Amino acid sequence: MKMLEGKVAIVTGASGGIGRAIVKVLSEEGCAIAGFNFTPSMDSSDYTEYIVDVTDRNAVENAVKSVLERFGRIDFLVNNAGITKDNLVYRMSYEDWDSVINTNLTGAFNMIKATIRELVKNEGVIINISSVVGLEGNVGQVNYSASKAGLIGLTKSLAKEFGKKNLRVNAIAPGFIETPMTEKLSEEVKKVALEKISMRRFGKPEEVAKLVKFLIVDGTYINGQVIVIDGGMEL
Ligand code: NAP
Repeated sequence: MKMLEGKVAIVTGASGGIGRAIVKVLSEEGCAIAGFNFTPSMDSSDYTEYIVDVTDRNAVENAVKSVLERFGRIDFLVNNAGITKDNLVYRMSYEDWDSVINTNLTGAFNMIKATIRELVKNEGVIINISSVVGLEGNVGQVNYSASKAGLIGLTKSLAKEFGKKNLRVNAIAPGFIETPMTEKLSEEVKKVALEKISMRRFGKPEEVAKLVKFLIVDGTYINGQVIVIDGGMEL
């Protein structure tokens, strides 16, 4: 019997590099998956796709209702949707500040508000995909690092609020993972990043996905933590 047979997960940003890998690893364990994507995906063969902008509260609530109608339950929420709009503060527009905070942080809050009762009922698990940049900061990323640090505060507070109900809430802080998000960086930026990683390689989306599975399946006494997965990186 597969470990997650009969369980249901919502994964936001399921079409992206890390999201796609999370869907694959969880569905291989028999988990049914609702993927909340911003734009329709070319490849949603192993999950049910919902087109949802996580910043749109009404859209989130309606999509969560549809998930419940279709699957009857929600056990796991993986807040993975995220964007970068990097710039030095002098050049960062207010719009780029707002959209990164709204997507990465408020989007996660919207998802939590819409699913929390169901997750508590099922003694579920929430995993927020933060970043090492949320712990360490990074030049050109005040908006992104603030959003990812915000996710860590949210994770820790939520874990304290719901621990006694057996709902576990943890954050994962990846370093540099090879996905469309990092693909767009210049060769120079990638070279500098690589030199900061003691393992001298970038991470793969599957490596993050396996950590998500571990936190869901085996990490039954891990709560309110930030798990760094960065190959030994010094920012
Ligand atoms: P990615 O390939 O760009 O995927 C991001 C996903 O988020 C896409 O599916 C995107 O959908 C979705 N998304 C963006 N805005 C959304 C919105 N408003 N509503 C719903 N979905 C939305 O990036 P990734 O590297 O896999 O990143 C996944 C998560 O890991 C992000 O939170 C990122 O910050 C975090 N992370 C990544 C790295 C890394 O090195 N790659 C490191 C640390 C943390 P569309 O494609 O349709 O826009």
